[in-house]
Amino acid sequence: MKLKTKINLYTTVMFILLLVLINSAIYVTFSRMMYDHELERSAAEASKTVEGMNAANATVEIGDLLRAYMPVNGMIKIVDTNGKSDEIFTDPNQQHLIDIPTSFYKGETREIIEYKNMPHTFISLPIITSGGEVANLQLTESLEGTAHILRTLRVVFIAVTLIATIPVLLSSQILSNFISKPIVSMIETMVEIRRSGKYKRISLPKQSNDELSQMGKTFNAMIDQLETNYESQEQFVMNASHELKTPLTIIESYTDLLKRRGLQQPELFHESIEAIHSEAIRMRELTQQLLLLARHKDQWNMTMQSVDVEKLASGVIRSFRAAFNRKIDLKMKEPVIVHADQKKLKQLFYILMENACKYSDAPITVHIDKDEDKGFIEIIDFGIGIPAEELTKVFDRFYRVDKARTRKTGGFGLGLSLAKEIADAMNAQLRLQSEEGKGTTAKIYLDLADSY
Ligand code: ADP
Repeated sequence: MKLKTKINLYTTVMFILLLVLINSAIYVTFSRMMYDHELERSAAEASKTVEGMNAANATVEIGDLLRAYMPVNGMIKIVDTNGKSDEIFTDPNQQHLIDIPTSFYKGETREIIEYKNMPHTFISLPIITSGGEVANLQLTESLEGTAHILRTLRVVFIAVTLIATIPVLLSSQILSNFISKPIVSMIETMVEIRRSGKYKRISLPKQSNDELSQMGKTFNAMIDQLETNYESQEQFVMNASHELKTPLTIIESYTDLLKRRGLQQPELFHESIEAIHSEAIRMRELTQQLLLLARHKDQWNMTMQSVDVEKLASGVIRSFRAAFNRKIDLKMKEPVIVHADQKKLKQLFYILMENACKYSDAPITVHIDKDEDKGFIEIIDFGIGIPAEELTKVFDRFYRVDKARTRKTGGFGLGLSLAKEIADAMNAQLRLQSEEGKGTTAKIYLDLADSY
């Protein structure tokens, strides 16, 4: 069953049920009140007749007395202990009441009886006749008027229920349309996306901010994100294959040369082997970085612990001084112990140190300190710097400020994006400040160990 039909059906059925319930409750209460009132009235009439009989005290003929007290729409009679009645007086319009079977009651009785599909009040009071015998004064009155009122009330209630169903049906139709429209539109968009393979958005009303509109907005945002992810993935694959193409072309042309003239020319053989070897190393480095980048944040397997930043930094600085033959100063006032994964922090530090060495010639400064509730490591170089407009882009995969220059220095444009991923996985923040021609400062903020 469609959502629209379900909403229509449930709201209408529920409303009608509610209306029937309310109407029935009103009807039952009202009819009971009316019948009680009628019984009271008939009982009062019967009592008055008995009082009249007692007051007359055999001075008036019993028949005349009963005739005088006979109800307008009913019957009055005296019933002896055998259930027989000689004195019966009936309204000419209610002659059929004579056929109601007669019986004697010991105590006072009052009830509503149904006779020939018409409700009647029936009152029976014990009396002592002028002859000193026990008997019943029984009064039966037709409730035709009350029955008519109740019948009219029933018709009104049924009509009201039927008439009220029309606006309910209309409003539930509007409601179901209102709810199902964005959902239908979303389904259509999804089907269209699947069919065409293109990312589409659903159109949303501008003003509305209800849950359905929020659902639509979330859907569109999700599609935006999917599209961006898809595009960046596509870009990533294109960049990766492009990066692999150059070394593969170099290897191919050198192997061609080797095949043709390698055996005759030993110097060509050595040059080729050297070039193939260096390109193979470059490809291995690239694939290693790609593999690291392909890892999901959850797959980093962080082992968070207390790390003495000075100890970690001095080890790395020592290696860099030796490998790059550079002057690197370490500035630190007090020990800084952070909450981090030692190996990953070292890797992050390596990437930033490598960049500082690659893109500067002047001495590099490493500054370790605390800043409010964070510890930080700053790697300051006085090199070529990064133009302001490129500062956010350098974290993108394969992004290089100057392609020709970087190719010479050997980077793939993957270092900073890898550094960012590591920082994110470790809950560290990575900031980059730079001025073209003056130098760059890379800063890693880390949680202090004593806050854990
Ligand atoms: P790469 O492996 O090419 O260095 P990165 O992702 O580490 O890739 O850096 C991206 C680009 O940012 C580099 O190509 C370089 O142009 C620029 N860059 C990064 N660090 C520095 C720095 N310390 N000084 C100047 N330029 C830098």
